[in-house]
Amino acid sequence: LRDCGATVHDLAVPFHTAATAAQVREALAEHPEIDFVSLVHAEAATGNTNPVAEIGAVVREHGALFYLDAVASIGAEPVLPDAWGVDLCVIGAQKAMGGPAGVSAVSVSRRAWTRMAVNPRAPRRSYLSLLDWKERWIDAGRKALLHAPAQLEMLALEACLERIENAGLDAVIARHRSAAAATRAGALALGGGLEPYVLEAAEAAPVATTLRTPSGVVAAELVAKALESGPALPLSAGGGALAKEMIRVNHYGADATPEVVRESLTALGTALGDFGAVVDTAAARGAADRAWG
Ligand SMILES: *Cc1c(COP(=O)(O)O)cnc(C)c1O
Repeated sequence: LRDCGATVHDLAVPFHTAATAAQVREALAEHPEIDFVSLVHAEAATGNTNPVAEIGAVVREHGALFYLDAVASIGAEPVLPDAWGVDLCVIGAQKAMGGPAGVSAVSVSRRAWTRMAVNPRAPRRSYLSLLDWKERWIDAGRKALLHAPAQLEMLALEACLERIENAGLDAVIARHRSAAAATRAGALALGGGLEPYVLEAAEAAPVATTLRTPSGVVAAELVAKALESGPALPLSAGGGALAKEMIRVNHYGADATPEVVRESLTALGTALGDFGAVVDTAAARGAADRAWG
């Protein structure tokens, strides 16, 4: 938005917590001219999930357009753009849907179409022009695509959607919820100073669980050690400054299973033990298994 010339007010919250509707209300009162609010639903990078319904109500009351990045929540938890008053909801297939990284989708509300239609600077004659798609695809009866589709991505998306339909969306969401609950419970039972990074369980994203390393243990080094025993495990250190203190267990897509959670906890426990911490990996696995249900 800044690159396109917009004035942007950032609402910054600590990485261990979600944003609240009250904070959004305050920011809107401070800057009443705001006419567009962009929110990330769940964030794999920090392990938080934000209360979209409550924030959406505040945004609607203010009268701004509401944009939601639901890339990391779609498939892992309910995403309800209409019920939440979301005007533009963007999703991707590469996280909880377990699909290809090359496709994304956006939903557009009537209000958003209206705003775009009166904007003389809205993109046109481009693959990325939503107005082009509306006029030449939706309004023209969805007969001829505007551009050559990325066929391999479409085939991968179709396969991914078939898998989700066969399993049932509710089951896919339940798998992610269980993976998050099990990872959190397992980390707490592991000991050794490892702690859930997101303080409130209710604010922890089902897509990925972030953990805080004990003081003196560098997260990136701990992850590197853990990956020696399980190179395929979905473990990574936090980005930027968080690489020192944050571990990400990316239990999404095909990795939202009890086995991956158990093996991740075991690998982290073993690595922590190598760093001199006292851990109980059997207790961690037991707690994870109980929390899964
Ligand atoms: C993963 C993710 C994306 C997509 O990021 P890529 O760099 O394209 O993989 C977007 N938004 C959120 C919140 C994400 O977690």
